[in-house]
Amino acid sequence: MKVLIIEDEKALAESVEQYLNQEGYRSEKVAGFNQAREKINLYNYDCIIVDIGLPDGNGLDIIKELKQIKSDAGIIILSARNNLKDRIDGLEIGADDYLTKPFHLSELNARIKSIIRRRSFSGSKEVVCNEIRIDLDSMNVFVNDQPLTLTKKEYDLLLFFLSNKNRVVTKESIAEHLWGDNMDLVDSYDFIYTHIKNLRRKMLDKGANDYIQTIYGMGYKFNLTL
Ligand code: CA
Repeated sequence: MKVLIIEDEKALAESVEQYLNQEGYRSEKVAGFNQAREKINLYNYDCIIVDIGLPDGNGLDIIKELKQIKSDAGIIILSARNNLKDRIDGLEIGADDYLTKPFHLSELNARIKSIIRRRSFSGSKEVVCNEIRIDLDSMNVFVNDQPLTLTKKEYDLLLFFLSNKNRVVTKESIAEHLWGDNMDLVDSYDFIYTHIKNLRRKMLDKGANDYIQTIYGMGYKFNLTL
């Protein structure tokens, strides 16, 4: 799950980034309006946390731009406690939720999870797909009711496949989902191959069907129509 934090208060941005990474997200932060615009036009995020008061612009304009480019990222506004108008404006132009400062990191986490659930899996706390079951809150995965132990990358990969089931996902989109712009694309292809190989083996070991197909020259498909 990729999260972009747009926040100019350095200490706050750092603590959010650190916390979310510990919680298993892949988050990155930018401190200004222009940097944020660059990021959202280049990359896809599952969720974007945006501060309204930025030194070089207004966070509300970032939300407008996200809507213009038809981004399907979830959007959470961060605003000062006394600024009701910003929050209302933000929700009206398409933000999903807001938090007033100061907030608890665990509350932010709960809001992100709920947005991602609403967007990717129609609000459900559990993703069930034939013999595979994922508890999105605890991040536990089961195959035929037996627990499956996955690394964070394998878990992200499985969720990415399940939110794109029966569709071809390219290696580029997998690399972007798992690493964002923090990794050289060519290097990451070897890692993708390894993660997919391991995920497939772990699932087969628990008796799952062999859903992950290699689509030569394009990428992979989580094929439920086998
Ligand atoms: Ca600010």
